[in-house]
Amino acid sequence: MSKPIVAIVGRPNVGKSTLFNTLAGERISIVKDTPGVTRDRIYAEVSWLDKNFTMIDTGGIEPESKDIILSQMREQAQIAIDTADVIMFIVDVRQGLQDADSKVADMLRRSKKPVVLVVNKVDDFNKMMADVYEFYNLGIGDPHPVSASGKLGLGDMLDEVISHFPEGAGEEEEDDRPKIAVIGKPNVGKSSLINKLSNEDRSIVSNIAGTTRDSIDTNVRYNKKDYLFVDTAGIRRKSKVKEDIERYSIIRAVAAVEKADVVVIMIDATEGVTEQDAKIAGIAHDRGKGIIIAVNKWDAIEKDNKTMKKHTEEIRDVLSFMPYAEILFISVKSGQRLNKLFELIDVVMENNAMRVQTGVLNEIVTEAVAMQQPPTDKGKRLKIFYVTQVAVKPPTFVIFVNDRNLMHFSYTRYLENRIRDTFGFQGTALKFIIRERK
Ligand code: GDP
Ligand code: GDP
Repeated sequence: MSKPIVAIVGRPNVGKSTLFNTLAGERISIVKDTPGVTRDRIYAEVSWLDKNFTMIDTGGIEPESKDIILSQMREQAQIAIDTADVIMFIVDVRQGLQDADSKVADMLRRSKKPVVLVVNKVDDFNKMMADVYEFYNLGIGDPHPVSASGKLGLGDMLDEVISHFPEGAGEEEEDDRPKIAVIGKPNVGKSSLINKLSNEDRSIVSNIAGTTRDSIDTNVRYNKKDYLFVDTAGIRRKSKVKEDIERYSIIRAVAAVEKADVVVIMIDATEGVTEQDAKIAGIAHDRGKGIIIAVNKWDAIEKDNKTMKKHTEEIRDVLSFMPYAEILFISVKSGQRLNKLFELIDVVMENNAMRVQTGVLNEIVTEAVAMQQPPTDKGKRLKIFYVTQVAVKPPTFVIFVNDRNLMHFSYTRYLENRIRDTFGFQGTALKFIIRERK
C-alpha cells in the first residue's frame, strides 16, 4: 500500500512554509539533480518514529487581493481533501481566529478527513496558551500549539498526525491489478486517455482495501486483464491563476504516483518536452516507479522520417535523469499505439519488480571492474567487495566497498549500465546504496 499523504492547509502568512521546511529537513533522492525535488518544495518525505509519509504544502502564491484569499483557501482545502490521508490545518495565534479559518474548518469537517489543528507562532508556551483555546471554536478538535520557527511542540503534533494513518499503510496491497498513474501538464490529454480506454464506463471506487482515502480510480479491461488507472479524480480541476494550476498539477501527480506501480508521463507532441514536464517526471523518477513516456497528439503534428528521432533526442536531453524510460508516440484521438501502451505497462511493471541472482550479479560486477578500474583518491583505490539486491520496486542494490568516499557517482552509473546491459530493467529506475564493509 502507498505511503500516507499529509497535506498542509492554512491562510497566507500563518507559517505553512516555515513549518513545511522545518519538517522536511534534507532528503536524499535517487539522483541528486532530479528536477522539482530540491528547487521546488511543494512536497517532501518526512519520517517520524517508524512512520514515513509524504507531506504536501498546498499553499500557492500570495493572493493579490483579500477577497480571493477565501476562494484560494477553499481550493487548497479541496485539493487536500482529494489527495491527503491526514490534513494539517494551520492557524496563527498572533492573528487569532479569522472568519476564513472558520469557513475552511467547516469544509474540512464535512469532508470527514482526519484533521490536525495546528496553532502556530506559540513561541512561549507559558504565556500564550490562553490564546490557543480560542481555536476550540473551530469545532475540529484539540488545537496543537507549536512554534514552527522555534521548533516547539512539533513532536506532539507529529504523534497526532501519524495516529490517523490508515491501518497497514506502507504494506503490500491485496489488490493485484497493475496500478497506473497518468501524469502530465494540463491539456496533454490525460482525461481523454482515461475516457477512451474506459469507454465512459468509469467506476467510482471508494475505500479501496484499507485506506480511508476516497478516490476515483478507473478499471480498464484490456486483453482479458484488468488495469487500475489511479487517481483520475480532479484531473479536471482548473484554477484561474497560472502558478496555482502548475502547483495543483504537481500535487495531484505526487498523490497519483504514490499509489501507482507504473507511471505514464504524458507529453504534448505539439508543444514538445518542457521544463515543467521534467518537474513532473522527476516525481515519478524519484519514487522509483516504472516509467513510460507517452508523447500524445501524434496525429496533430506534421511528420517526416526524422520527426520521431528529433522528439526522442529532445526528450532524452530534457529528461536526462531517466535514460531508462520507454518512449512511445501515441494518439489518444486516433487510438494509435494504445495497444503498445499496455504491452509496455506489463513489461515495465515486471522489470520494476524483478529480482536478479546474487551470483550472476557479482560476476557482472567483477567483469565490469576488470574492464574499467575503479577510481582512486590520494593513492587509495576503491575496492568493491560484493553486490546484492535487497529490494524491488525499484530494484535496489547494496554495493559493499572499502571506502564509500571513493565511490563516485560516475562509477555507480558505469556499474548501473553494465547491470542494465545484462538484465535490461527497461523502464525502471535502479537504486544503489553504498556501504562500507566492516
Ligand atoms: P505561509 O505564507 O503560511 O507559508 O507563511 P510563512 O512560512 O511564509 O511565514 C510567514 C511569517 O511568519 C514569516 O515571517 C515567518 O518567519 C513567520 N513565522 C513562521 N513561523 C513562526 C513562528 O513559529 N513564530 C513566529 N513568531 N513567527 C513565525
Ligand atoms: P488533460 O488536461 O491532460 O486531462 O487533457 P484533456 O484530456 O482534457 O485534453 C486536452 C485537449 O487535447 C482536448 O481538447 C482533447 O480533445 C485534446 N486531445 C487529447 N488527446 C489528443 C490527441 O491524441 N490528438 C489531438 N489532436 N488532440 C487530443
